Amino acid sequence: AKKRGRGRVEFFTDGLRAQVVETKQTADDILRALEQGEFVAFFQPQFDARTRDIDGVEALVRWEHPERGLLAPDAFLRIAESLNVMHRIDEIVLDQALFHLRQWQAAGLAIPRVSVNISAQRLLEGGLLEKIEDLRFDPGSLCFELLESISFEDDDDAVLNTIERLKALGVDIEIDDFGTGHASIVNLLKLTPRKLKIDRQLITPILDSQRERQLVSSIIDIGRTCGIGIVAEGVETMDHAALLSDMGCQTLQGYAFARPMRAADFLAFALAHESR
Ligand code: C2E
Ligand code: CA
Ligand code: CA
Ligand code: CA
Repeated sequence: AKKRGRGRVEFFTDGLRAQVVETKQTADDILRALEQGEFVAFFQPQFDARTRDIDGVEALVRWEHPERGLLAPDAFLRIAESLNVMHRIDEIVLDQALFHLRQWQAAGLAIPRVSVNISAQRLLEGGLLEKIEDLRFDPGSLCFELLESISFEDDDDAVLNTIERLKALGVDIEIDDFGTGHASIVNLLKLTPRKLKIDRQLITPILDSQRERQLVSSIIDIGRTCGIGIVAEGVETMDHAALLSDMGCQTLQGYAFARPMRAADFLAFALAHESR
């Protein structure tokens, strides 16, 4: 038993060591990737539930890793946050999103807006307002998606202040992952977001579970009462899309329509969709 016990300890120690080494490697790797420009924005269209026109597009970061291939945020965002470089990744994605939006509009695409996920780190980093003021573009074509949890953490006032000033410039604010955090809806409504995005965890079960269906329906009702649009994310089937449209949800996003894709593929997709 003693031997087995010791073996077990070694087993865990080795596992832990491997994990630490891996994290360390990824951390060094992220810093190198920032220098090498390996982070790219992918784009996933959002659809008007009624007309099924594209009424926006969300930028989602990917890491084009030279050895590991294309990596989704799961593989690196937590480590990037702990390295305090999340604001740099957000900056890269914001720049690419605005660059491509201009190109798409120049190519004749009627795309009103691009949405960018923004971390608390980036909001607090400073320079964001100045940057948006300096850009020669319509701030109304930019939307920031903020996690439901973002505004009521430690740096409340600074975050709220930045949000207010962004809104004064005309930038839209959307609450992301709604229904998964603990923020009260009263507090969220104080931000007067343009839209609330209902998290995929609530959307997926709506066909089978009355509980989630009613919850989503109530959120849509609150949105209607308060004049805030509702976006459903993770819409994976046309049955989900049909039900959500019937319930009065305004915007749909998910694999049922399109996956996140490269900027060039998005342009081709959107042009084909416009002439459908
Ligand atoms: P999110 O903002 O909630 O984005 C939605 C996630 O769901 C994306 O995952 C998207 O690819 C995925 N998705 C979209 N439609 C479907 C569907 O029908 N079914 C399923 N199963 N998934 C779907 P992704 O791209 O892996 O991003 C994960 C999270 O990473 C995002 O969640 C967001 O919180 C964060 N993130 C992504 N890009 C950025 C960024 O540039 N900055 C910051 N701060 N966070 C980012
Ligand atoms: Ca988002
Ligand atoms: Ca989500
Ligand atoms: Ca999320």
